Amino acid sequence: MLEQKVEAQVKKTLKEIGLSKKDRILVALSGGKDSSVTAYLLKKFGYNIEGFHIDLKIGSYSEKCFKTIQELCNLLQIKLHTYDIKKQMGNSMCYLRSAIQSKQQGNKLRNCAICGVIKKWIMNKEARKLKAKMIATGHNLDDEAQTFLMNIFKGSPKLSSNIGIKTKNIADKKFVTRIKPLFYVLEEDVRKYSKNKKLPVVYEPCPCALNSYRIEIRKFLNKISEKEKRKIVKNSEKMIKKIKKQEKEISYCSMCGEPSRNKICKMCEIIKK
Ligand code: AMP
Ligand code: ZN
Repeated sequence: MLEQKVEAQVKKTLKEIGLSKKDRILVALSGGKDSSVTAYLLKKFGYNIEGFHIDLKIGSYSEKCFKTIQELCNLLQIKLHTYDIKKQMGNSMCYLRSAIQSKQQGNKLRNCAICGVIKKWIMNKEARKLKAKMIATGHNLDDEAQTFLMNIFKGSPKLSSNIGIKTKNIADKKFVTRIKPLFYVLEEDVRKYSKNKKLPVVYEPCPCALNSYRIEIRKFLNKISEKEKRKIVKNSEKMIKKIKKQEKEISYCSMCGEPSRNKICKMCEIIKK
């Protein structure tokens, strides 16, 4: 039952995205259940995938994630590309994050917010180098409902423009489209599916995910029913369509040259402060 439900939801999403089996898709693998299930299902359905992992060098946690991903890629017989943050950027995520936070005054950006911006910047740049057609992430229905509510509570619904099964189709050679095959799947169903299939997964949370706003919102959202969660996501999509229409065109960051809607991209903005 659960298996059919999850697989039907993912097939529906892939159909809506219009993914071709010839397209080379890079699956962003963290070692967690969501991205592992994403890779497993795309492979099962016959898509042309390769794995991409950013080794954040967060001590033994990162070592465990890396081993688990290698196991998954062996099992699925897919190629794995790894980006070593220490080698490429000179330091571990923990160090980079503390350096950024120590320069900030007043309300400091929380750990997951900084890590998220850096990961997205790396993902786009590396996927482009690898000439991937798209990047698939493990975001599920709960993640999307959380993002939408977080941005409403923060008074910045415009930040929700990345919600949706696919990032806006931007005809920009520097921007690699991101897709979310688990968009219609509940987090709890992803967990159960990964356990039923006995997939190699690290179930413990990242040790740096402390005092994250998302965790507070997750607790709140876990009190409502599946039906209500689906309504939040469905209604957010309508609102986001309007927001997307008003969005500025993509241009390039004046500091790093990566695609950005503003003069300076989010990555350079947090680093320069
Ligand atoms: P998070 O930002 O941790 O909520 O993760 C969201 C999605 O980003 C995951 O489902 C993965 O697809 C991807 N992701 C997270 N961490 C990594 C990582 N270290 N390397 C590659 N992809 C990642
Ligand atoms: Zn930049």
